[in-house]
Amino acid sequence: MLNKVVVVGAGPVGLVTTALLTEAGIGVTLLESCQELPRDLRASTFHPPTLDMLDHFGVSNRMIEAGLICPTWQFRDRRDGVVATFELDRLADETKHPYRLQCEQWRMGEMLAKQLSHQPLADIRFGMRASKVTDTGNGVIVEAANAEGGVETFEADFCVGADGIGSVVRRSMGVTFDGQTIPEIFLTISTTFDFREVMPDLSNIAYLSDPQEWFVLIRTASLWRALFPVDPTLSDEEVTSPALAEKLLQGVIARSQPYEVIHRTAYRVHERVATHYYKNRLIIAGDAAHVNNPLGGMGLNGGIHDAFNLARTLVEIYRGATVDLLGRYERQRRKVALDVVQQTTLRNRAILNASNPESRQAYYDDLRATVADAERHKTYLMRTSMISSLREVETIN
Ligand SMILES: Cc1cc2nc3c(=O)[nH]c(=O)nc-3n(C[C@H](O)[C@H](O)[C@H](O)COP(=O)(O)OP(=O)(O)OC[C@H]3O[C@@H](n4cnc5c(N)ncnc54)[C@H](O)[C@@H]3O)c2cc1C
Repeated sequence: MLNKVVVVGAGPVGLVTTALLTEAGIGVTLLESCQELPRDLRASTFHPPTLDMLDHFGVSNRMIEAGLICPTWQFRDRRDGVVATFELDRLADETKHPYRLQCEQWRMGEMLAKQLSHQPLADIRFGMRASKVTDTGNGVIVEAANAEGGVETFEADFCVGADGIGSVVRRSMGVTFDGQTIPEIFLTISTTFDFREVMPDLSNIAYLSDPQEWFVLIRTASLWRALFPVDPTLSDEEVTSPALAEKLLQGVIARSQPYEVIHRTAYRVHERVATHYYKNRLIIAGDAAHVNNPLGGMGLNGGIHDAFNLARTLVEIYRGATVDLLGRYERQRRKVALDVVQQTTLRNRAILNASNPESRQAYYDDLRATVADAERHKTYLMRTSMISSLREVETIN
């Protein structure tokens, strides 16, 4: 073997995979199509076990300094207020970080990339778009186009596709990406308005259920982010227009002054899981392998959990295990994507948009009963914080 892996994509999953492989003595060429790490606003929620994992690189504490610790999160009825408030300190015996952290994902990416710039085994190549990935049977060849239009070729033992939803590696594997696209467009609006002024019992993370228009409020260190589902028949200009943002925020709390809006981001949401996570020496992880709605903050976290599992598996292969061990990675991580991430995020969406009053009431009753019972409360938190899924799949071989 060449003792070398090509990782495609320097998002959170590619960076974590590269950091773990290189520290184990395996050379990595990391190809990223952008000229630098993108700073666009995406996920901002880090769950407790992900922070425990990131402690390994010494970045969690710096993320905590830059972010906002959220000790509780809640479901609310848009009109009637709090339905259930979940208290993460109930996980104090299970994790070193019994809270959700709100910190923009690009901050973690920049911290890891800076550390990797001192790692001689990591060759990070910005402005390189992987265009063709070939499995030769006992190795891989990756062709990538550079910014000048030239094509460079990289040979390695394995290729890890951490190249997001449109993954070229997944396409090269010929696997299908089964699932659905959610009809509505998700619009995130960042505002300086402090919603606690008008909702004093508001947690830093709140899911507000409503049959006509549910929404989510998430506080970050400097702003509040409000996420709304919007009509997909609107044009791109209409979806991201200042007028629509103002109308949606005025619908939450009517004010005489306009809201100060700092960012607006609109995106389509998919619920899909690849039929396979590897084919011989081509492997996918993170959004390349599974995508889900953001209600529960599980996409980014699940991707980082994939990266830890995959890096551990590849290190075992380099130390003598057969390539078939990648089957364990697929069985463990695909099960989490299907049984935990998809199920939890779909259920969260169902709670938020339930239009039938009886179903809505049944969801509320169940949530209230869950928080009122100490054991159920903790079990629910173990699942939604993604601790249970990490532990349960360890028994799968
Ligand atoms: C607009 C938006 C908002 C989101 N908001 C939320 C949210 O609020 N909550 C939540 O939980 N999740 C959210 N997500 C999802 C979350 O950001 C992803 O789950 C997370 O980024 C996945 O990380 P990743 O490393 O797998 O993929 P990505 O972050 O997508 O990284 C993939 C990287 O690969 C690079 N790349 C792609 N193709 C190639 C190629 N051919 N060659 C080289 N490089 C390539 C890309 O430039 C990119 O840097 C959001 C996503 C988007 C797009």
